[in-house]
Amino acid sequence: MFEQSKVTTEDQARYAGLIKSGNIEQALDEFISKYINPFVDEYSGKLAEFMQFVKDQEKSDTAAIIGIAAATIGISTLLKNNFALITTLYTKYLTKDIKSDEVKQRILDTALNRFNEQIDGTMNRTSQNVINAIRELQTAFITEEARLRASGLKGQDVQKGIESFKSQLKNKFPNIEEMIKNKSFLKSTADINGVSRNYRLEPYIEQSIRTSILDVDRISSEVNATIDGDLVMEYYKKDNRTVKTKERQICKSILAHKEFGLSLLALTEEVANLLGIMTVNQARNTSDYAMSYNCRHAVRRVSKSINDKIRGMLESQAA
Ligand SMILES: [Zn+2]
Repeated sequence: MFEQSKVTTEDQARYAGLIKSGNIEQALDEFISKYINPFVDEYSGKLAEFMQFVKDQEKSDTAAIIGIAAATIGISTLLKNNFALITTLYTKYLTKDIKSDEVKQRILDTALNRFNEQIDGTMNRTSQNVINAIRELQTAFITEEARLRASGLKGQDVQKGIESFKSQLKNKFPNIEEMIKNKSFLKSTADINGVSRNYRLEPYIEQSIRTSILDVDRISSEVNATIDGDLVMEYYKKDNRTVKTKERQICKSILAHKEFGLSLLALTEEVANLLGIMTVNQARNTSDYAMSYNCRHAVRRVSKSINDKIRGMLESQAA
């Protein structure tokens, strides 16, 4: 399983070259379509096979459950390894202006840890969701068989009863049919009505990767700005791909407020109070969470003249 999942040295050099020449999006697009999506798709296909197997065999689910566990460990390891590789390339580029190797390493470690935690959580939820569905099926078969036997049926007649039960599975377990058919194995967290739905892994994993890379970019520019004593950063839309998700309220309100023609976030409390804006940390940590999952905004440095003007305002305020 997952053959040719290792990023070749040729491709590593290609991505490094693209990143270096500023074609960041292109490198990421190519990497995801070659080294992430096909394998997530292969994994989803495997899960569908295991579910189908249990549905067809109405026998022991042990083999399927062991198979699911093995496939899940395989895909998780693959995703983490490939992500670590591309993120190392990005971090090298995005932190090129940072002098301290220790700081560079910490930025890389933070990105990798966050991603790995997210992948572990996602894959755990996914495999558990599939295993639960398989157990649900298994229980249904056992119950049906017990019901048939209790009604006095024996041997072949029981088998016939089971066959007829199987043909009605679609109506009895629309959820399971849908999972297999659409390969939608990732269960969302329950909404306010307690309803959760299943969806496909690929877009979710892809978004996790893009968000994590974007985070390296955000953290690197924030560290750069802080080291140089900047007072504010510009909040802007970094990822211009069109996605279906709605923009966060917090992003809208930050973007709606302009100072010096820009939507700003402060790097100190003092400046935040002076300009009536949020600090970068506040934006990250206030409910609705700017720059978290699916948010396409980022922070970038502003000109020296804007920083100087604000410094002047601080001084005249103090005087
Ligand atoms: Zn946003």
